Amino acid sequence: MARSYVGEARRRGLGRRRDRIGPIVERLALEHADATIALRFRSDVELLISVMLSAQTTDVNVNRVTERLFEKYRRPEDYLAVPAEELEQDVFATGFYRQKTKSIRGAMRVLLEEFDGKVPRRLDDLLRLPGVARKTANVVAAELGHAQGIVVDTHVRRLSQRLGLTRNDDPVKIERDLQRIVPRADWARFPHLLIWHGRRICDARRPLCEECVLADLCPSARVVASSGPGTDPALNHEPTAARVL
Ligand code: SF4
Repeated sequence: MARSYVGEARRRGLGRRRDRIGPIVERLALEHADATIALRFRSDVELLISVMLSAQTTDVNVNRVTERLFEKYRRPEDYLAVPAEELEQDVFATGFYRQKTKSIRGAMRVLLEEFDGKVPRRLDDLLRLPGVARKTANVVAAELGHAQGIVVDTHVRRLSQRLGLTRNDDPVKIERDLQRIVPRADWARFPHLLIWHGRRICDARRPLCEECVLADLCPSARVVASSGPGTDPALNHEPTAARVL
């Protein structure tokens, strides 16, 4: 289990996470008004493919690959009309190309057979598509305007822990903790806000606490600030056992 800043927030008198979440969302929304998904797509199917390709690589890299891919493959049928080896070559640059090809072809087959070629909105339906795990399903559902969970990627996990919003390390448990405190209306944008804050300010190794709009709400802020650049706060800080706020 990750070191917990939940108790640290109480010791520092920052208030309960349930009370801090409102200002956290508000300030991040002001700070990162442009925070949206970085993947480029023009249709529901392109969204699904992009998110599936984004595993273990950057959104920039996916966009580079899909710029050509989506000119060649326009409908779900197109991904099944070529030999698997050809699609593997076309997605090669995103890494794990064999597994991704298998997943994409499987998902397109199920889309055609069970969903009339359309990307479903319900999380349970999305999870029936081969190669679509909870994170992918959450991203797709949220982008289609039907958020039914909260996306937890590496940034969301790190910031949720540093902000003392969870004491868990497992993405499913972190999502459950966040669902309890983040207003449902914010489920879609909250991950984008944390992701962009993580990229711009709260870097894994060099968090810029002195520039952070959340510093007075963050239980790891001063620890990070006083530990010097290049130091991971989790390595410096040993919060004592804490009760859940
Ligand atoms: S205060 Fe520092 S550790 Fe806390 S969210 Fe901001 S940058 Fe991250």
